[in-house]
Amino acid sequence: MQRSVAEELDRLAPVIDELGRRFADAGHELALVGGPVRDAMLGRHHHDLDFTTSARPEQTERLLHGWADALWDVGRDFGTIGCRRGDWQVEITTYRAESYDPTSRKPEVSYGDDLVGDLGRRDFTVNAMAVRLPSREIEDPYGGVVDLAHRVIRTPGTPEDSFSDDPLRMMRAARFAAQLGFEVDPGVVAAMSAMAERIDIISAERVRDELVKLVCAPWPRRGLALLVETGLAQRVLPELPALALERDEHHRHKDVYEHTLTVLEQAIDLEHRLGGGPDFVSRFAALMHDVGKPRTRRFLDDGTVTFHHHDVVGAKLTRKRMKALRFSNDEIDAVSSLVELHLRFHGYGSGEWTDSAVRRYVRDAGDQLERLHILTRADCTTRNKRKADRLRRTYDDLEARIAVLAEQEELAAIRPDLDGNQIMEVLGLGPGREVGEAYRHLLELRMDHGPLGEERATDELRAWWAARSAD
Ligand code: ATP
Ligand code: MG
Repeated sequence: MQRSVAEELDRLAPVIDELGRRFADAGHELALVGGPVRDAMLGRHHHDLDFTTSARPEQTERLLHGWADALWDVGRDFGTIGCRRGDWQVEITTYRAESYDPTSRKPEVSYGDDLVGDLGRRDFTVNAMAVRLPSREIEDPYGGVVDLAHRVIRTPGTPEDSFSDDPLRMMRAARFAAQLGFEVDPGVVAAMSAMAERIDIISAERVRDELVKLVCAPWPRRGLALLVETGLAQRVLPELPALALERDEHHRHKDVYEHTLTVLEQAIDLEHRLGGGPDFVSRFAALMHDVGKPRTRRFLDDGTVTFHHHDVVGAKLTRKRMKALRFSNDEIDAVSSLVELHLRFHGYGSGEWTDSAVRRYVRDAGDQLERLHILTRADCTTRNKRKADRLRRTYDDLEARIAVLAEQEELAAIRPDLDGNQIMEVLGLGPGREVGEAYRHLLELRMDHGPLGEERATDELRAWWAARSAD
């Protein structure tokens, strides 16, 4: 651990040595703190550098002038100044003393005079370590190094006090469990269970940001299980624990909740197809794909269970939840359309879809097509290997057909054979409702039959118009 810290500090030397000297020369203390220290000990790089200082925000600002390329006020009320130098992102926060009450409107925070006091106000021991600068002396008053070695999340003081000060820390415990793959101390879990409803006072945006980090972490199952187990999920994402009550339609003894976590992990394994890092939309769609099941479950007389329209109902519930969590419209549209489309493939059977059905599949998925491939493939958790192989081959076949059609027709950009101007010209109309109807009619024909060509499309349009006018 010592060696990885030393190596990481050498890498950070251009920033930490200069800043350390600047602050020391002005008579202030400065220390690297939190994430970068924790990650240095784990032998990982941390991208943004957090510091804590005895200097007040105005003094910090003055000391950064002439050193930083750009400077901003992250939140003067919280005593944080942000800056950038080259590729380095830096945030410097003045020592805190008292806990601040996020429910009160009091803007002032009480600043502290010493590093150890500041570390005691931090969320977890593994985040409550600092490296004093420029001396590079490690400060670890709450046993963070030991907890890192034991891979456990603990609070510096009692978890009850900590979570009363800021209930968001309960979500953060689950987030760090998911990011680091650590256990959460049993006392911390107990406090999370006892205090879960306090999360209600936290703004939806702060909850959302922690949820996104948790879902995008390497071990989301760990964090999600913790949210469900402690009752936090019941407050922030109730659709998830609701799944645990249900039985899967094929395997009566496997519940939909377990199935969902497995689908999430299988979707993560396919994420490389998107070519980037963790993909929130794909992961969240996996998590939400079956949330319509509890509402749509019906028991038939012969003992079977059905979940008719759980895709449509699930898409609505997803939309509602994401709205409440203040996600952007783009994210809401993307995730809910994936939920709505997740079953569509199952009509494909052994490749009997018409070209028209394939075109519609592509068109309806729009720019979510690649994610829909991932979700549909991930949504197969049967232990029956032959069945799983058959589904995979059938999907391979669908993707192959899409590729062929796409090459022929540029499916994603399907337009009718005539555009709006041509329609108006052929029918002698000005802009209006009829032009839209005609456009949609030609689009339907285009979907059903492929490209018609201008001449035949014109004939079809005239025939449609004549029939419509005769009605
Ligand atoms: P990341 O940057 O990936 O989100 P991080 O560990 O840097 O991870 P931040 O949320 O950036 O976490 O917070 C920086 C540091 O500030 C943390 O390591 C922790 O010491 C402290 N901290 C942040 N939020 C809280 C909080 N709600 N309560 C107490 N301390 C906090
Ligand atoms: Mg950070």
